[in-house]
Amino acid sequence: MYDYDLLVVGSANADLVIGVERRPGAGETVLGSDLAVHPGGKGANQAVAAARLGARTALLARVGDDGNGRLLLDSQRAAGVDTAGVLVGGAPTGVALITVDPSGDNSIVVSPGANGKLTPEDVRAADALLRASRVVSAQLEIPLETVVEVVRRLPEGTRFVLNPSPPRELPDEVLAACDPLIVNEHEARIIVGGEPAGSPSPEDWARALLALGPRSVVVTLGAEGALVADAEGSARVPAVKVDAVDTTGAGDAFTAALAWRLGAGSAPAEAAAYAARVGAAAVTRAGAQVSFPTAEEVAAL
Ligand code: ADP
Repeated sequence: MYDYDLLVVGSANADLVIGVERRPGAGETVLGSDLAVHPGGKGANQAVAAARLGARTALLARVGDDGNGRLLLDSQRAAGVDTAGVLVGGAPTGVALITVDPSGDNSIVVSPGANGKLTPEDVRAADALLRASRVVSAQLEIPLETVVEVVRRLPEGTRFVLNPSPPRELPDEVLAACDPLIVNEHEARIIVGGEPAGSPSPEDWARALLALGPRSVVVTLGAEGALVADAEGSARVPAVKVDAVDTTGAGDAFTAALAWRLGAGSAPAEAAAYAARVGAAAVTRAGAQVSFPTAEEVAAL
C-alpha cells in the first residue's frame, strides 16, 4: 500500500576534497592535489544507501540550480532514488570544503546553501510523498523547524527515524516521535546535555536517552557494533570484522539500512545486525556513496 519503503528528508552536499601535505594556518596558502568532487550530505547518502540495497526510496531535499546540484541529482537517480521531491533553487547547492593531510586528519568548512532553504512550507507541499512512505528518516543538516514540521505532518502508522547529526538539543515533540533515535556516543552526550555518572557505558547512554522520550534508541559504536534499546530492555549487536579503509558514510549507510529493515517488520536487533553488515561493507571501500553495498554484496560479506 506504500509507494516507498523509505523517504529521506535531509541534506545534499557536494564534497570538494583536496589532499594537502599540511593544512594551511591563518593567512597561509598551500598547494594541494587535483580537486575531487563527490556527492555527499547525510540525507543524500542515506537515500543512496537504501536504494542500493533495494529499498524503494525517495528523497526530499533542496539543491541549487547549478552543476553541483546536477551532480547530486545524477547520483541519486543512478542509485534508483525517486528524485521528484528534490527541489531546485533558492541558494547554491550545499558544499563541504575538505582538506585532508597524509595522516588522514581533515579540516572542513560547510556552506549549507540550499539545505538551509528547505523549509516547513516545503514539507507541507510534500504531503503526498509523506503519505506514500512507510518510514521517514531525517538528520539535522537542514533547519530544525523543518524536521519539527516532518514530525507534525507524519501520517498515522508511519515510522520516524532520526540521526541527530550534527547534534543539538531536541524539542520533546521530536524526541517522542523517534523510533529509533540513532546516535553515536558524541551525539548522545550533546542530546542528553550532560554525562551519566561514572564512565558511562553504551547501556547508560541508552537509558539516559530513553528517559527523554523516544520510543527506542540505537547507539552506534563504530568497530564495536551497536546497542539497541527500548522500554523492554537492550541488546548488543556485534560489528562484522572487516579491514576498515574509510569510515566516511558508515553511519549513514547503517541508519538507512536499519530504517528500511525496521519498516519491513524486522525486530530491532535483527534490523541492527543487518545494518551492521551494511556499515561494515561501507568501511571496506573509500568514499561515502560509492562505498555503499548492494544487497548481494551484503550477503557475500
Ligand atoms: P557514526 O559515523 O555515526 O559515528 P559509526 O562509526 O558508529 O557511526 O558506524 C556505524 C556502524 O557501522 C557501526 O555501528 C558498525 O556497525 C559499522 N561500522 C563502523 N565502523 C566499523 C568498522 N571499523 N568495522 C566494522 N563495522 C563498522
